[in-house]
Amino acid sequence: MSRWPLRHVAFVGLGLIGSSLARVLREQGLAEKITACSRSRETLAQAKQLGLIDIGYLNAVDAVRGADLVVLAMPVNATETVLREIKSVIASNTVITDVGSTKGSVVEAALRVWSTTPKFLVPGHPIAGSEQSGVQAGKVDLFVGHKVILTPLAETDSSAVELVRELWQRAGADVLEMTVAKHDQVLARTSHLPHLLAFSLVDTLASESDNLDVFRYAAGGFRDFTRIAASDPRMWHDIFLANREAVLQALTAFETGTATLKQAINAGDSAALLGIFTRARAAREHFTHMLAGTAYAKSMTASKELIYNVTPGGRFVGRVRVPGDKSISHRSIMLGSLAEGVTEVSGFLEGEDALATLQAFRDMGVVIEGPERGFVRIHGVGLHGLKAPPGPLYVGNSGTSMRLLSGILSAQAFDTVMTGDASLNKRPMERIAKPLRSMGASIQTTGERGTPPVSIQGGQTLTGIHYDMPIASAQVKSGVLLAGLWAQGTTSVTEPAPTRDHSERMLRGFGYAVDVQGNTVSIQGGGKLTATRIDVPSDISSAAFFLVAASIAEGSDLTLEHVGMNPTRTGVIDILRLMGANIEVINPRESGGEPVADLRVRSAKLTGINIPEHLVPLAIDEFPSLFIAAACAEGTTVLTGAEELRVKESDRIQVMADGLLTLGIDIKPTEDGAVIVGGQLQGGEVISHGDHRIAMSFAIAGLRANAAIVIRDCANVATSFPDFIGLAKRCGLNISAYEQSAGDSV
Ligand code: NAP
Repeated sequence: MSRWPLRHVAFVGLGLIGSSLARVLREQGLAEKITACSRSRETLAQAKQLGLIDIGYLNAVDAVRGADLVVLAMPVNATETVLREIKSVIASNTVITDVGSTKGSVVEAALRVWSTTPKFLVPGHPIAGSEQSGVQAGKVDLFVGHKVILTPLAETDSSAVELVRELWQRAGADVLEMTVAKHDQVLARTSHLPHLLAFSLVDTLASESDNLDVFRYAAGGFRDFTRIAASDPRMWHDIFLANREAVLQALTAFETGTATLKQAINAGDSAALLGIFTRARAAREHFTHMLAGTAYAKSMTASKELIYNVTPGGRFVGRVRVPGDKSISHRSIMLGSLAEGVTEVSGFLEGEDALATLQAFRDMGVVIEGPERGFVRIHGVGLHGLKAPPGPLYVGNSGTSMRLLSGILSAQAFDTVMTGDASLNKRPMERIAKPLRSMGASIQTTGERGTPPVSIQGGQTLTGIHYDMPIASAQVKSGVLLAGLWAQGTTSVTEPAPTRDHSERMLRGFGYAVDVQGNTVSIQGGGKLTATRIDVPSDISSAAFFLVAASIAEGSDLTLEHVGMNPTRTGVIDILRLMGANIEVINPRESGGEPVADLRVRSAKLTGINIPEHLVPLAIDEFPSLFIAAACAEGTTVLTGAEELRVKESDRIQVMADGLLTLGIDIKPTEDGAVIVGGQLQGGEVISHGDHRIAMSFAIAGLRANAAIVIRDCANVATSFPDFIGLAKRCGLNISAYEQSAGDSV
């Protein structure tokens, strides 16, 4: 049975926050009776006129008598007085909540009044508001899309917490819980400190003798920064005194920051200034990104799920350029950071994986400008210039970052810890840790399966090894070779099958000698990298979705521009051609040591094949889309020798098999591949398990399905292909995306 509407809700204080919540109660009919207390008759009269309350009182006792729910919405420093007054009329089943901007002071006030913290008190704080105040300023949608933090104590009654949580959810807010202490520390930094700075800046400038001039010529930045100095002085006075300790800590940290800036300006230290500003800008963008609810936000809050909906039909036509190569983008940041001089990169992929690498090097003190529409300028620090990061390096979903960085970090003088998101934290890291250990590295993975977090102790002396790689992996090869830059003597790797050689090509591009003899690559430690310019070609792994799409959709004629044609990556073209695809390579050329070309692809009748095993490592990331090609082909396609697919961003063999079975395709997963019988794709709901390539593959399957395909958990597409939806739509895919609260059924 629903507990709404409540019989009686009482407000103590009916200003901006209280009256906004009262508006919600009224509009949704959540309370049969609303009463309120405020200091002035005028507020109560206005509230009555606005229809917000049934009865107003000038004392709290009368207002809250008999209420099911009491909302304290007055200044925090009045809390103790109000609680003392109303104590005698609070019934055993009454729930009290508050909206105060500090939580420690509210809980302490309750403790002084009741001697223990009452179990019916649910401290809360809506992170919404404005610099306006009073009953007239309230708005019914003030809390929509904003966070409300509840800070229940161990003794707080769970049904009381539930009631308050439901109330805020009905007001449109995202409700989260944290401890009182955490709340006060977080808010001291994110809300109280900025208000303090705004008040201080305006006051400082206003007291200068030429203040009129200063304000007359003030630019937009001043207006933006000081908007909050128009907030209610009395309220803020109370907040700073109520949250004294946490505010002082935040202020001290800030003073250290301004002292560093002052010193850098004084000394004309441009590297230090650029470093601080680029780091701050990146953090601000990351923050905006989080608020926009994309993949990073998902990992932080896990509250929203991105879903694709693809309706049948469409054909792929036109000319497009897909985003820059992920592997090359990663490596450009790594080698650019370790080089001497300034490296400029264009065509950089601004996907989350490559941005995670970029952030890791910023955290290690490298000044990196951009990315700005694919352009990045890296101020290299040389092979011995990295600094200890302030905390663990978070590399999100990116296996490439973690494995390659393992090699680099093993050779540094400082300790590091690398962590990742939920999906990366399941992936094996021992395969890189093992060879690095035999070079002398001190590196630990976690748990029996040897997964992240990865901890590395610095200060080790590395010695070159020869490593016979048991499984073909470009990431392991690159990680070992990168460690070899610092190792004594020669480091060499022999691979059982060719894997992508971007690291080797780029090392040469940075002036480092790399020797390749058959399947063996070697480098000598102790050299140096010299800054260069890099033009990142389009990623053939991203192009693969479009190659398959245009092949399977009747009437297609699509040209993909400036695609990277590194021979270790073009397996997807060879396999599709064996299946009968019509792909033409136009204008092959070189760009920064990497071969590139335009690819024209027209629809073709595909036939099932036994995929030659020697092509498997050359197309390892493209199998999700190749499974779709096989599902649309006539006859049976057999894949073997691809066990590596089971430890990618998801178990790609199983996840693709589950999805294709749902869509009516006859597919049998095997240990190292699958047997797929082409047929008619049906509509249905498939789950990508947070794997970007699975999500995009099922999206293009919509071209040949006979009903809509719904694909769940798609936010990670942003890791490799930020504007997939936009580009796919422009080409002709009937795709839309929407967000849904995680856990809801579709
Ligand atoms: P407001 O607009 O100034 O309203 C305050 C209300 O409290 C008014 O109705 C006022 O009565 C009443 N009041 C003041 N002193 C009182 C007392 N001693 N006893 C009983 N009632 C009293 O303030 P607000 O912005 O709504 O803020 C209320 C609370 O919300 C504060 O604790 C604040 O920390 C918190 N908060 C504010 C914001 C924000 O952005 N404004 C955001 C989150 C949380 P009169 O109308 O008669 O003066």
